[in-house]
Amino acid sequence: MNEKISGLYLHIPFCLSKCLYCDFYSSTSISAVPDFLNGISKEMEMYRHQFNPFDTIYIGGGTPSLLSPKQLENILIKIRKNFDLISNTEITIEANPADLNRSFLDSMREIGINRINIGVQSFDEKVLGFLGRRHSIKQAISAIEASRKAGFHNIGLDLIYGVPAQNIEPWLDTLRQAVVFSPEHLSCYQLTLEAKTPLGIRYQAGEFSIPGEELQYEFFMKTSEFLRDAGYIHYEVSNFARGQEYASRHNQKYWDHSPFLGLGPSAHSFQSNQRWWNHRSVDQYLAAIHAGNLPIEGKEILTMEQLRLEALYLGLRTKRGVSLQGFKNQYTYDLFTEKKELLAKLEEEGFISIRDSFLYPTQTGLALADSLSLI
Ligand code: SF4
Repeated sequence: MNEKISGLYLHIPFCLSKCLYCDFYSSTSISAVPDFLNGISKEMEMYRHQFNPFDTIYIGGGTPSLLSPKQLENILIKIRKNFDLISNTEITIEANPADLNRSFLDSMREIGINRINIGVQSFDEKVLGFLGRRHSIKQAISAIEASRKAGFHNIGLDLIYGVPAQNIEPWLDTLRQAVVFSPEHLSCYQLTLEAKTPLGIRYQAGEFSIPGEELQYEFFMKTSEFLRDAGYIHYEVSNFARGQEYASRHNQKYWDHSPFLGLGPSAHSFQSNQRWWNHRSVDQYLAAIHAGNLPIEGKEILTMEQLRLEALYLGLRTKRGVSLQGFKNQYTYDLFTEKKELLAKLEEEGFISIRDSFLYPTQTGLALADSLSLI
């Protein structure tokens, strides 16, 4: 269906301790790491003819930075053995500040990792404690500084806002401290409380409240305004880049229906009109691989109508917007003609603007991007 180059995601499903808000699949049984590394190598071999080449690799988790430099180097050796990489492939690793020291970071540069995404989350010690993070502000600062010194020219910081009792001003303080380091990329996520997480359970028991819709909207708008004034492009609902060249090339693949292969427990993949996902538990994942099977738990085939809706929903979450001609070519659907009245209404209400044959989300449209999926 498209000839876009694929992206590769590896899910490293281990963390030293669980953050209190976390709903991602990760295990604290790190004794299983060697078995897992064997498993993921075998999974790569199973896909060597189905996906090729790649121009982005994202090593996420979990906490990939708890692997040793040697283990990470072996992963990259295996990737290069099984797949072709386009020159200048974006290779990102997610890291916990507590794991980053100069020697680890030097090794990451030497093995070819050229982008680092550090889970700073906050420059407020109370917020870090509330979230159950295992690092301090001091460790976050020294991790960012050491990454720069090790030669990373593409550093991203993840931050969380909207924690209970947090007002706009303390959040802006976190942003002020973040931009002091001129990170090339910032991801600012609103705290979400999933039901089964420790914080979700406390929330349901009525121990605290979280910002209501109006305050959430204000957080969103102030974040965007502050970072724009600091020189960042707000290029996706939660993502900001200090120049278009620093927008995450890997994440873009999720937003424009490029093919991507996800390896490891719970990882999702997409190709053509199919999406599939792996078993969540390390044990089930490894059992399937040891039996010589792909560790797939489920699969869906998307109809053209589903693909169209997704493309619209995802496109309107990005500053790039939706090209009406591109949409017509790829999804055989003339949005402008078929949805003329609806688009005119959304434009009149200030959610989108239609210019030069593109649909663009306005700032309000970005803030309410989830509701725009109702199109
Ligand atoms: S480090 Fe990330 S994946 Fe691990 S528990 Fe915390 S939020 Fe979840």
